[in-house]
Amino acid sequence: MELERHAYDVVVVGAGGAGLRAAIAAHEAGARTAVVCKSLLGKAHTVMAEGGIAAAMGNAWPEDGWRVHFRDTMRGGKMLNHWRMAQIHAQEAPDRVRELEDWGALFDRTPDGLISQRDFGGHRYARLAHVGDRTGLELIRTLQQRTVALGVDVFMECTVTRLLTDADGVTGAFGYWRESGRFVAWEAPSVVLATGGIGKAWKVTSNSWEYTGDGHSLALHAGAGLVNMEFVQFHPTGMVWPPSVRGILVTESVRGDGGVLRNSAGNRFMFDYIPDFFRKETAETEDEADRWYEDKKNNRRPPELLPRDEVARAINSEVKAGRGSPHGGVFLDIASRRPAEYVRRRLPSMYHQFKELADVDITAEAMEVGPTCHYVMGGVEVDPDTAAASVPGLFAAGEVAGGMHGSNRLGGNSLSDLLVFGRRAGAAAAEHAAKRAGVVALAEEALADAARAALAPFEREGGENPYTVQSELQQTMHDLVGIIRTRAEVEQALGRIAALRERVAAVSVEGHRQYNPGWHLALDLPHLLLVSECVARAALEREESRGGHTRDDFPAADPEWGRTNLVCTRTADGAVTVARQPLPQMPPELAEVFEEQS
Ligand code: FAD
Repeated sequence: MELERHAYDVVVVGAGGAGLRAAIAAHEAGARTAVVCKSLLGKAHTVMAEGGIAAAMGNAWPEDGWRVHFRDTMRGGKMLNHWRMAQIHAQEAPDRVRELEDWGALFDRTPDGLISQRDFGGHRYARLAHVGDRTGLELIRTLQQRTVALGVDVFMECTVTRLLTDADGVTGAFGYWRESGRFVAWEAPSVVLATGGIGKAWKVTSNSWEYTGDGHSLALHAGAGLVNMEFVQFHPTGMVWPPSVRGILVTESVRGDGGVLRNSAGNRFMFDYIPDFFRKETAETEDEADRWYEDKKNNRRPPELLPRDEVARAINSEVKAGRGSPHGGVFLDIASRRPAEYVRRRLPSMYHQFKELADVDITAEAMEVGPTCHYVMGGVEVDPDTAAASVPGLFAAGEVAGGMHGSNRLGGNSLSDLLVFGRRAGAAAAEHAAKRAGVVALAEEALADAARAALAPFEREGGENPYTVQSELQQTMHDLVGIIRTRAEVEQALGRIAALRERVAAVSVEGHRQYNPGWHLALDLPHLLLVSECVARAALEREESRGGHTRDDFPAADPEWGRTNLVCTRTADGAVTVARQPLPQMPPELAEVFEEQS
């Protein structure tokens, strides 16, 4: 077998914010480091991030601090977050933003020259450091430049299909060059997964083609657990029209900057959907909500800025009740509320997105928006301080890791999560590698087996086309494991997933190994199916509604479930099992934060 071989201390899979930050940290700790990514460097999902990076820097509000950010994050996640991750995240995010600035990132400024911070749902104070509505682009540009300047090796357009392990843990990874189809293997005692999310399992999603759950699946195969996979975030505002762009994100900054949601009768319906949990901090009248934009001290926040799960469910209910917009969404109106010049300056990407894709001028008319699958809160179960998974030598950071965001992520908390835990993962991976230097080796039989599995779709004749299977999976997850679920629906989904698994095993591809997207999808499909099964199994088990998991047959949050995590693992014969695990106990000095500020 023709195989390109490399040896490193740390291999980082993924070149989004988490992967690049991990690679920088591993390199700085002295590790020989490589980054592998399946798209071009700089094209990771992170580049699409719009609104900003949440960090309690106190620039807009001196009252802000890590304890308030910690509290907001835990409350946004309906208290199911790993408290220690939420604490580290809130404490370290400001330093990570300042560090980006030191490395050349150009943030928008306040009149005093400080980094400007904007409002987002669920954050008590304006705390998102931003660059217009193109924050992710600046973040990636900065990290990428630093990664390259430091001399970290980059393997781009290269997909990892397997992690390699022995009895003592990770030994490396196996993959293929997308262009040539040739195989490549990396020997390494530490692998950091930074592969992002799973959104391509749903039909309507803000996520790009890369989000096929590879890292989640690779971790399961290596023996790690996935925590709380039932929690999938449906962002309230995706484009709904025309069909070709359905799901593309409409940033929350539109609401942060004054946009409001209306139904077909022109009513600001979010006032009808304020949950008791957030009532004390939410405006009761339109007047109060409008005053908040000018005077945040003496007024409460508009209900349009409730956490995403609340807003997405409210939109869903309005549409179901027949009060939706012509194409099955609701109206998001900033045109009647802010001058055209302000909208173009604050939201340049949104302005162009709607003009070019939908022929809508958002400075003159309302947008049509509806929920879109956006983010997975569930992911690899990791140690909060080191990002280490249960398999020695395996680390996970960014969207592929679980625990940090509980049942619902607040906007802006992902970019900060990438930086904080990317750095920790890279440093810990380097430390682990130093202890295992010279003792790992790749087993030849495992390499041959990985190659055989990768080539299997070429060996089968007359099998199904991978695109048909993917689209049926996406429809299944959309219809049956979507924003609102029931036992009967999820059970039906599991039946369909089992049938799809048999069909995937028979998928065949035509042509040869040189850039062959059908083959690439055939290799992604088992990942998509495995993560979909995890979401469905955990969604069936959790008989309550909380954050990004709403069960129509169990509509209330249950205190007992509020103390319980669900962890999926994979058995040797490929079955997914779900186990209940007690939530880590928050120490009393942190629990006090909720009494101080409630
Ligand atoms: P990514 O940036 O997605 O990187 C994943 C990397 O893994 C890629 O390089 C990919 O090629 C690689 N990869 C995947 N599988 C493989 C494989 N098998 N082999 C090799 N490489 C692989 N969050 C915020 O905090 N603020 C925002 O304003 C914001 N706006 C957003 C706007 C949009 C439109 C979207 C979709 C998300 C937004 N988010 C935002 C969420 C945030 O952008 C993501 O959660 C975050 O960027 C994920 O970063 P990551 O480093 O974990 O993964």
